[in-house]
Amino acid sequence: MRIDLHAHSTRSDGTDTPAELMAAAATAGLDVVALTDHDTDRGWDEAAGAVQSTGVSLVRGAEVTSSWQGGSQHILSYLHEPARLAPLLAENRLRRPRRARAMVERLSEDFPITWEDVLAQAGDPSTVGRPHMADALVAAGSYPDRNAAFAAALKKSARYYVDIAVRTPVEVVEAIVAAGGVAVLAHPFMARRAAPLSDAEIGELAEAGLFALEADHRDHTPAQRERARALAGQLGVAVTGSSDYHGTGKPNRLGEGLTSPDVLEAVESAGHLPVLR
Ligand code: AMP
Ligand code: ZN
Ligand code: FE
Ligand code: FE
Repeated sequence: MRIDLHAHSTRSDGTDTPAELMAAAATAGLDVVALTDHDTDRGWDEAAGAVQSTGVSLVRGAEVTSSWQGGSQHILSYLHEPARLAPLLAENRLRRPRRARAMVERLSEDFPITWEDVLAQAGDPSTVGRPHMADALVAAGSYPDRNAAFAAALKKSARYYVDIAVRTPVEVVEAIVAAGGVAVLAHPFMARRAAPLSDAEIGELAEAGLFALEADHRDHTPAQRERARALAGQLGVAVTGSSDYHGTGKPNRLGEGLTSPDVLEAVESAGHLPVLR
């Protein structure tokens, strides 16, 4: 069984529609994929409609942004009851365009881009993020590709950066659990996003009901993957693996990180919704 529990569609900053993502998952030889768009579950129905034709099972999820020391930490939610997580996701989607406008205001002092340019890249203001600012900067000729934009103007330490300013990681884990969801700390040791959580702080997430740490992820070194496994063992939580696929927007390929079938089974028993098969 090939199970990839983290992928994005055009409903956030991926480049495949939810149906295209399901087809790409079939092509990649996946048995199960999780759709985890940033702060939204609006791709669920379209992806669900492609389960039969592709033969790929679907874990309905979202990647929820939390605020951490001037940056963000991402918490994956799987199989939650949508109405019960909706207020938190809506709150983040309200903050995204405000934050993006503030960043674009600063960027436009030094780069030839406008809010309209960024909005055109995003399509939808409620899921707008730095990847769309990167696309606008690339379209304006300021950088050759997304990566170059992220390495310079869009990095957290750049003077253009503005926090999305949302709830703390503990509050997000609590909200996911209260909504019947399964909470997994996404890429816990990814360096560029924010000050990393300490082992003790990850322990507090476990106390709040965290189910697992995402260990096998492209942005973790082999040593960090080992560290995630060791810490998960100490805390009594599971580990997952995933690709964090974004279509052509990032080099991540579907299936490059995988989750074991027994962990998926535990996710399904803990979650409110079933896996769609
Ligand atoms: P935001 O939530 O708006 O702060 O943007 C974070 C998003 O940017 C996440 O989806 C990341 O996967 C994406 N991201 C971070 N670094 C890069 C990069 N070098 N190239 C493309 N996307 C990136
Ligand atoms: Zn993303
Ligand atoms: Fe993430
Ligand atoms: Fe992601």
